[in-house]
Amino acid sequence: MWNSDAPRPVLADSTAAEAFMRLALREAQKSAAEGEVPVGAVVVRNGEVVAVGRNRREKEKNALAHAEIEAIDRACKALGGWRLWECELFVTLEPCPMCAGAIVNARLQRVTYGARDPKNGAVGSVFSMFSLPLTHKPEAVGGVLEKECAEALTSFFKELRENRIQNSESREQKQDR
Ligand SMILES: [Zn+2]
Repeated sequence: MWNSDAPRPVLADSTAAEAFMRLALREAQKSAAEGEVPVGAVVVRNGEVVAVGRNRREKEKNALAHAEIEAIDRACKALGGWRLWECELFVTLEPCPMCAGAIVNARLQRVTYGARDPKNGAVGSVFSMFSLPLTHKPEAVGGVLEKECAEALTSFFKELRENRIQNSESREQKQDR
């Protein structure tokens, strides 16, 4: 929390939220183009983008390389401190427990996500990290550009499945020869 003398953070309104979510979606699309599950994130302070991040788990061969972690890491470096209390995060997919923990640790004021993650979501779907009695409780908003964010994921997995089928068919053809 901030003291009363400090300026309160300016958080994005719903129109701005969609614009920032589109930027996060653009990052997600870069992930997809690199063969990664499409998830993108943007850290914003007072209406300005401070840092972006995207999923790079495959390329980095690193379980920690989630979009939110990269965006938070870059935001800390850009702003020269670990407390991002004036900032908010936009991410195309509901954060997992690791990223929700990082969001708490970074003292982010608010998190806005697009698609729900019924399997791993830690901001309402599986459980609510931010309603636990931790040192900091970020605000959470879900479902901004939900359809677009979910579609990015479903079309990625659909393409992946089709490629796998094609590959196994071409392997079978080779074996038949
Ligand atoms: Zn995560």
